[in-house]
Amino acid sequence: MKIAIGLDIGGTNTKTIIASENGEILLSSKNPTPAVMEKNKDKIQNQLVNNLKDFLNEPSAKKVISEASEISGIGIGVAGLIDRKLGRIIQSPNMPAINGIALKELFEKEFSLPVTVENDANAYAYGEKWVGAGKGLDNFIVLTLGTGLGGGLIYKGRLYEGPMEVGHMTIVPSGRYCTCGSSGCLESYASGRAIVDRAISSLEKGTESLLSKCCDGNIYKITPEIVFEKALDGDSLSREIFREVGQFLGIGIANLINLLGIDAVIIGGGLIGGWDMFIEELSKEAQKRAFKLLSTDVKILKSTLSKNGGSIGAAGLLFSSLAGVSDQKAS
Ligand SMILES: [Zn+2]
Repeated sequence: MKIAIGLDIGGTNTKTIIASENGEILLSSKNPTPAVMEKNKDKIQNQLVNNLKDFLNEPSAKKVISEASEISGIGIGVAGLIDRKLGRIIQSPNMPAINGIALKELFEKEFSLPVTVENDANAYAYGEKWVGAGKGLDNFIVLTLGTGLGGGLIYKGRLYEGPMEVGHMTIVPSGRYCTCGSSGCLESYASGRAIVDRAISSLEKGTESLLSKCCDGNIYKITPEIVFEKALDGDSLSREIFREVGQFLGIGIANLINLLGIDAVIIGGGLIGGWDMFIEELSKEAQKRAFKLLSTDVKILKSTLSKNGGSIGAAGLLFSSLAGVSDQKAS
């Protein structure tokens, strides 16, 4: 059995898996992404490489590797705009410290294995088509709700190799500042970053909320997970924040339905646990705005790959590139 390593370098954590050729996850692990705290490029590169070396040196990984016929390579998904051919990061709005890093060259040199690099949400979309909720569907978009908001498109059964920076379409003219340099981007209204920003700005204005008592009173330590917890506890500000996320996602999705004529929208990413808090508002908004003819049969699905979508998709893309089937349908 052939195996591949899948790496998903996100704005908060880096997920590492070993996947079989059939898309089965044999082993997985999670580390904080070095670029979140570290700003020095050399140190970030060393840490990315060392984290993978440590993972591969663990007894459980050694066992999986010893039982495999070969390690086919390393597939990497990374949050940001990438140069697919060179396997280089052009611009990562939420992790500017990694801009310019040539991941393909770095990992090929260190591990002497074939390496592919793709945008994390594109990799996620491929994962959904390969072994997830998109199996059997040929036209769908995947939105990844994490630190940022990513997008990936499967068009006519294949991964569309464009940027698909769904999170950076303008939704509100002169709206909130965005890390990409523009303002009013969808991501500034529907992402982990947006949830935290929205919570802090409301609390600064004196809105009453259970959130003001969390983190030992330091509201600048609020995380999207904490807002979710408080929403579950019935906190009205936290609930309102998630409803807003749903509303803005719905607007974005209506635009995408009108543009792309897709059969489904699959929503995944690290914050998918909050699904129940935003899905009603999202569906209502999307149906209200999109052309009826185009939107009636569109399914809004929850990812089945959850937190491993990016890494499993990255591993799948590696297998696919080696098989020379990158321009063929994923089976
Ligand atoms: Zn933006």
